[in-house]
Amino acid sequence: MGSGRTKRIDGPASAMGDAARAAMENAMLADAALALLRCDTAEAVYAVAADFIAQLCPDAVVIVNEAAEDLSWLAAREVRGLDDTMFAKAAELFGVEIVGGRWAMLPEYRDEVLSGTMSRMPGGIAELAAREVPRPLAEAGARISGMHDVYTIGIADGQHALGSIRIITRTRSAAVPTHVIESFARHCYSALSGIARARDLAETAERNGLLLETMVEGLAVHELVFDGAGRPCDYRFLSVNPAFEAMTGLRGADIVGRTVLEVLPDTEPSWIQRYGEVALTGVPTRFEDYSRALDKYFEVAAYSPRRGQFATVVADITERKHTEEALREGHDMLVNLTDQVPGVVYTYRLYPDGSSAFPFASFGMHDIYEYSPEEVRTDATPVFGRVHPDDYDRVSAAILESARALEPFHCEFRVVLPRQGLRWRRSDAIPKRMEDGGTLWYGIISDVTDRVLAQDEIVRLNTRLEERVQERTEELRRSNEDLQSANTELADANAQLEEATRAKSDFLAAMSHELRTPLNSIIGFSGTLLQGMAGDLTLEQSRQLRMINNSGRHLLELINGILDLAKVESAQDEPLIREVDLGALVRDMCETVRPLAEASSVDLRCELAEGLPQIATDGTRVGQIVLNLLGNATKFTSEGLIRATVSSHPSGVAIAVSDTGVGIAAEDLDRIFEDFYQVAARDRAKNDGTGLGLAVSRRIAQSIGARIEVVSEPGSGSTFTLIVPDRAHGDE
Ligand code: ADP
Repeated sequence: MGSGRTKRIDGPASAMGDAARAAMENAMLADAALALLRCDTAEAVYAVAADFIAQLCPDAVVIVNEAAEDLSWLAAREVRGLDDTMFAKAAELFGVEIVGGRWAMLPEYRDEVLSGTMSRMPGGIAELAAREVPRPLAEAGARISGMHDVYTIGIADGQHALGSIRIITRTRSAAVPTHVIESFARHCYSALSGIARARDLAETAERNGLLLETMVEGLAVHELVFDGAGRPCDYRFLSVNPAFEAMTGLRGADIVGRTVLEVLPDTEPSWIQRYGEVALTGVPTRFEDYSRALDKYFEVAAYSPRRGQFATVVADITERKHTEEALREGHDMLVNLTDQVPGVVYTYRLYPDGSSAFPFASFGMHDIYEYSPEEVRTDATPVFGRVHPDDYDRVSAAILESARALEPFHCEFRVVLPRQGLRWRRSDAIPKRMEDGGTLWYGIISDVTDRVLAQDEIVRLNTRLEERVQERTEELRRSNEDLQSANTELADANAQLEEATRAKSDFLAAMSHELRTPLNSIIGFSGTLLQGMAGDLTLEQSRQLRMINNSGRHLLELINGILDLAKVESAQDEPLIREVDLGALVRDMCETVRPLAEASSVDLRCELAEGLPQIATDGTRVGQIVLNLLGNATKFTSEGLIRATVSSHPSGVAIAVSDTGVGIAAEDLDRIFEDFYQVAARDRAKNDGTGLGLAVSRRIAQSIGARIEVVSEPGSGSTFTLIVPDRAHGDE
């Protein structure tokens, strides 16, 4: 390194003395240093350096390099002592580009460049060239170009290098003024680093300016204005950026240099106070406020860049505020609405770690769980503490299943509450999967205690009803059995009764027959005797014989009645139904009775309606009844009229027999159809009837579906009406 320090280079000053030479070199150095001070670009520094060294070493080739920041390469910026042809030759010779080309920094030169001291390269230009071309060629090249030693000095401060200067001498004996060059290199270093710093500063300033111009926040710098007592009373705008102008509508050109009270006279003292504190204490502040003048919300950050000044960074948060307001209104509405809902409206959050909470719950939480919504906002554990122990597992399982399947949650369960005691709750909710893998439900819980209890009551009543129905069914079954056995008994009794009735009828029939035969003899013989066929009779004999004959007849009548009754009762004969002209039948009956009526000088009329229909019935039985009714009428009518009328009736034909006889008292009307009943008569003629006629008539009527009605007034007569149905119509 030190080998070249005292080398001399032949040059213009070679003839001078050392002292004069040194003085001249120092003067040149001072000029060059001044020139460097005027440089404002690195390129200018390189040029000054190249010119200065070339002046010092007129015969040498001078190369000024720029160094990479990390010293990985060197690039030639200025070259002196080589003309264009030689450039081309050298480039041809070495196959390299000299100006602007980059040379890889050799590790062994790194420290040399950094040190800022000058050194001579051992082996000179041949060595240097040999790095790029074969050595013999390099040496030949060195000889041809007439170059020898190679000196290098870094433009550096020992730690950083900004470039290097290479000096290649053409004569072996040339002296190089090492100290001057080293000193000059240091000047170059300061010049280059100054330029770099200035460039950095300019860049930063530009960047900052750009930032202020383009930032979306408004930025304004102010300085405080003090009153006589030294208290802040106003502030002055120093500068504002475009965003500030846009936000406030205040133009920088109008407000910079003016105070806020000049620009906005309404500004409240509290603002000046607040900013005053920031500017005097240096403690920054941040707040949100509403500007009435601008009808906007602002977020303001204020800090103090230097004492007495403050800067505000302003953001327009009007939109955000409105959104917040809308959200708050929405939230208020939700709370107010849900608080009106019976039960509780909630969101329930289940986290992946198994914990859970009710982020939202309406006021009803107080009723449903006897907790305030706040008490369960971040932890749902208290709520689950109130679920009935017997229902807890079921509720948990339902929640987990709803979360797993993302299916709606429905559950009814009991809770045990401090005030209300045991109650029933029902919850319905819709689940939603959250980003963290947990689940959120939107739901309601309602009080279903009354309904559940009512249901229980219904079930209880139903059970009771079923029991009652069963009891009653059993009772019915039993009484049915009783009824059946009673029926059986009744049927038995009936059978016995029928048997007895038939036996009685048989007996009566037999007896009548046995009685009638001798009775006919008595009546026949007593009649023969009375007619005098067996000789004349005395008056007394005739009277007694008549009595015998009358009694015989009465007895026969009685026996005939009993026989009829027995016949009808034993129902031995079925009625014989065929088409009958009842008008003709009644007329015949009237003719049969007429001699009797005429004997007691009672008028007998038979009146038949026009167009009477023929009806299906048993004509013999109808005749028997009509004959009996006509017989009674003549029997109980001593004067006046007996009328038999035949007319149409809705169910067939009506035959009425009316008389003007004694009539029947109301109390007797029901009884005259009883067997053997005869009205006891004070004022009536002695009745020699049997009391069986009407009884038999009614039974006969029943056997053909007919009925007999009677209307009577004692002393005015009676009307007996037989209504005969037409059996062809099946009416009865
Ligand atoms: P009998 O005529 O043989 O006495 P009935 O059975 O025919 O028996 O009549 C019963 C009673 O009804 C009669 O005894 C009589 O008192 C009363 N009776 C029946 N028909 C008439 C009538 N047309 N007018 C008044 N009384 C009557």
